[in-house]
Amino acid sequence: MQDLPRHRGKRNQLANEVAQKGITDSTVLEAIRTVPRHLFLDSSFEDHAYQDKAFPIGAEQTISQPYTVAFQTELLDIKPGDKILEIGTGSGYQTAILLYLKAKVYTIERQSELFKKTRLFFKKMGYRPKKMVFGDGYKGLPEDAQFDGIIVTAGAPEVPKALLSQLKIGGRLVIPIGTNTQIMTIYVRASEKEFKKQELGSFRFVPLLGNKN
Ligand code: SAM
Repeated sequence: MQDLPRHRGKRNQLANEVAQKGITDSTVLEAIRTVPRHLFLDSSFEDHAYQDKAFPIGAEQTISQPYTVAFQTELLDIKPGDKILEIGTGSGYQTAILLYLKAKVYTIERQSELFKKTRLFFKKMGYRPKKMVFGDGYKGLPEDAQFDGIIVTAGAPEVPKALLSQLKIGGRLVIPIGTNTQIMTIYVRASEKEFKKQELGSFRFVPLLGNKN
């Protein structure tokens, strides 16, 4: 598949739709306008890729809805060079959005089939996360901590303590919390031991697998 003018036109429409739903950060909207989402999906989804919907990516997982990707990214408030940990690489679309914002991205995926497929895709496309790990995101990445931001792209029953401990002071964890539906939650590390929590609306995610705090 290629990236053609008709795809770019659809991306503009998608960015407008996401803006109408409340996303205001111009760099996030620019990322939605730029990253070719159709290339992160099987070719059978080419005609649907710019709908504001989640789609299957194999291994019973999904590429997140663009609005959700934009919302979580906006909440991370990324500055160029920020060190960001992503839990749930999946198709790699969210990773590519973070890379577009010039973050140094560390990303973890727990499904081996997806991990291998997306690693090859990144190579082919020239997307270069700082580190791509096959493993359990519940544990984070202690050897590379601390992070300016951590984004979890699957629903967690509760906040993994390991992820809180891997935030820099002032860093933020953006995580959907809940079992059937999730509440998008941000934790900002105010000091070594203090976290400010904010809850921001209801979403529906595939579950974060495993439960090892
Ligand atoms: N960011 C992805 C995208 O744009 O395609 C979203 C993918 S999907 C909503 C969530 C991903 O989290 C799935 O690929 C799933 O395999 C992965 N996942 C679930 N539990 C995990 C865990 N404990 N550690 C790492 N990845 C996990």
